[in-house]
Amino acid sequence: MRLSLLLCFSLFLSILKAQNIKTPSEFLGYDLGSQFSRHHEVVAYYEYLAETAPDRVKLVRYGKTNERRPLILAYVSSKENISNLDDIQTEHLKSINNKGTNDKAIVWLSYNVHGNESVSTEASMKTIYSLLTEKQAYLENTVVIIDPCINPDGRDRYVNWYNQNKNTPNQVDPNSVEHHEGWLSGRSNHYMFDLNRDWAWLTQIESQQRLKQYNKWMPHVHVDFHEQGVNNPYYFAPAAEPYHEVITDFQRQFQETIGKNHAKYFDANGWFYFTKEVFDLLYPSYGDTYPMYNGAIGMTYEQGGSGRAGLGIITNNGDTLTLKDRIDHHFTTGLSTVEVASNNSVKLNQEFKKFYQNKNYKYKSYVLKGDTDKLDALTKLLDQHEITYGFTKNSTVKGYNYTNGTFGSMSTDQNALVVSTDQSKGTMVKVLFEPNAKLSDSLTYDITAWSLPYAYGLDAIAATSLVNTQNSTLNTELKPFEPNSYAYVTDWNSLKDAKFLASLLQKKVKVRKATTPFTINNQSFERGSLIITRSDNENVKDFEQTLVATAKETDKILHPVSTGFVDKGKDFGSSYVDMIKAPRVAVLSGEPTRTLQFGEIWHFFEQQLNYPITVLEGSYAKRVDLDTYDVLILPDGNYGRFLDEETLKDLKEWVRSGGNLIAMSGAIDQLASKGGFGIKKKKNESEEKEKPLAHKDLQRESMKKAITGAIFKTKVDNSHPLAFGYTDTYFTLKLGAKAFDYLKTGNAVYLENNTTPVSGFAGSTAQKQLGNTLVFGAEKMGRGQVIYLVDNPLFRGFWENGKLFFANALFMVD
Ligand SMILES: [Zn+2]
Repeated sequence: MRLSLLLCFSLFLSILKAQNIKTPSEFLGYDLGSQFSRHHEVVAYYEYLAETAPDRVKLVRYGKTNERRPLILAYVSSKENISNLDDIQTEHLKSINNKGTNDKAIVWLSYNVHGNESVSTEASMKTIYSLLTEKQAYLENTVVIIDPCINPDGRDRYVNWYNQNKNTPNQVDPNSVEHHEGWLSGRSNHYMFDLNRDWAWLTQIESQQRLKQYNKWMPHVHVDFHEQGVNNPYYFAPAAEPYHEVITDFQRQFQETIGKNHAKYFDANGWFYFTKEVFDLLYPSYGDTYPMYNGAIGMTYEQGGSGRAGLGIITNNGDTLTLKDRIDHHFTTGLSTVEVASNNSVKLNQEFKKFYQNKNYKYKSYVLKGDTDKLDALTKLLDQHEITYGFTKNSTVKGYNYTNGTFGSMSTDQNALVVSTDQSKGTMVKVLFEPNAKLSDSLTYDITAWSLPYAYGLDAIAATSLVNTQNSTLNTELKPFEPNSYAYVTDWNSLKDAKFLASLLQKKVKVRKATTPFTINNQSFERGSLIITRSDNENVKDFEQTLVATAKETDKILHPVSTGFVDKGKDFGSSYVDMIKAPRVAVLSGEPTRTLQFGEIWHFFEQQLNYPITVLEGSYAKRVDLDTYDVLILPDGNYGRFLDEETLKDLKEWVRSGGNLIAMSGAIDQLASKGGFGIKKKKNESEEKEKPLAHKDLQRESMKKAITGAIFKTKVDNSHPLAFGYTDTYFTLKLGAKAFDYLKTGNAVYLENNTTPVSGFAGSTAQKQLGNTLVFGAEKMGRGQVIYLVDNPLFRGFWENGKLFFANALFMVD
């Protein structure tokens, strides 16, 4: 009796509490949608909910951003489910192995991956409030995981900018400054990376920390909330073609089930929307495809709005689109998603189990061999995806050979990496490693090729039978340090090697490079190998300790030698063995440059190479004394106005007096068109015109000139310093059909006549256009050089094998 009275009383209390939960507006002190909430205010609301309804909301801080903003997840469910959360999680994860008793739907809602698509986080607060109050019933059999803001640095950048620039009251005239964010928008994260391109590559700390949480839950449904242009209404599932072939019939159908439920609410309100257009499911690094390839129903929802929209804007139709409208739409699809999941929790669990069974993919094992630094870098990525792997014994494997593009065999040593599809993450393995993703349609939103053996520069075989492994770790040579040697020699063929050099140079250790191959102690070393002599470093305090510690940080093996007299090649005192200067590097940023590529360079220097860089903003860069720098980088951009005659003259003078100018993509266009440089745009290949083109076919026809991110096999002159450390073949990722003729000399990487991509889509005209063109090259000009990087080796930070070209441009070319 007493117990049941007590129960009644506590039930009464919790109802009372539920009724007393403050709405976002009550908590924030302003009407939701009347202003943008800053991240700390959003976090405070979620913390408040977790304190007020601890039996139904569990809050986790899962990390911090570059600018130290907290990353949080809120678990929302019924009281019973929250008290059994660990069991639900354990049972659910067992379903990957076709076991477990979970029957709850797991729905993950991710908001605001693009910071200036700023409605999402606001909508998340309204959504969680509703789930805790009038929509509690959905949570009886559903656990909802809410990430209110994937990209707090970007979002606060937008919100702060907007608050600083807005009219009061807000101005709906699209011409007012509050609708024009300028060069640095809030879309990207701190390093200007697009976090919705980073799910598979995990180059950014937000992605790395989030994926750990994702892997702990493996939701049934994942929604990525976005915004598109202000004149588009709303986009939701089902997605557009192409779909990756690993996507199952159920995943296709269920997108439709969800889409139809959304449509019901949108129709009732007279709201506009579209489906099955623009947003396809192929590139694996998105917030919809990545969950799809992990068995979930992954979806992108796009509200019209984003950084242009502010608190309200007049659209082309003459309507006023307000932040409140935008909140209502994302709120509606968020709840509708949870409703559908809740109504189908049994089915979702059954199908999730099925997804992980009977994966009978054509290729059973991917076997990769090559430089241990590159293998090591790849295994670090696999570890983050919780993809398992092993290493073979000495043997021969048969299958598709990535380097030749034919079926054949490859001999392996103990350090050949084996990654098999026969594992729970087998579908991800197929998607990331297969030589060529099957394309059902060439019209796609993003790149069509990313195959990891090419990206990591490893020789590989895709084997049709399962390859056994014997070791779980890489066998690395361990050598005790030999003090008092004449010199220490190390190889040069990976980003790790460049990191080692960058670190030594900053510690004032003098390092030489071999510009010709040599043999010493029966060991041969290629061009670019580093030579660190005792006598060069007599003035370095604790020289040996510094060297050993630096080598340890980057897993470098130091080969001690007792003489500078080589068996073959040039002796260490030869003029063929150059001292490496520690270059003072500057990069241009701001208006003339593209934020994404500037960000890739910035991130490369600070988070990958760990070498200092000065950022020269375009508005004052021309007033800076360039002689302070040895290297100047011009990222991709629109340099039409920036590179006026006088600036070009100054730049040329600086190069002639010894500067190294690195020009990328759009910067090369300008140097080519303004003249005075050796680089020339290739003339357009003529297109055959057979008959007049129908209007409806225009888009398809334009695809002939397009390359949507495809991989090409190029030739390498590895005797050129820009290509030190490479073999005679390099697989480059081309993002477009930009084509430049060969330079007179200095063509380090180039295409000949065969321009069929090894992976991905390239239109017929584009392929022709690329014949006999430059990829990477350097032109001598006086005492300096102009280095042309036509393709972007730092693209999204994932093309591991391209990064050494950038390091060569800094340390090897002089
Ligand atoms: Zn977006």
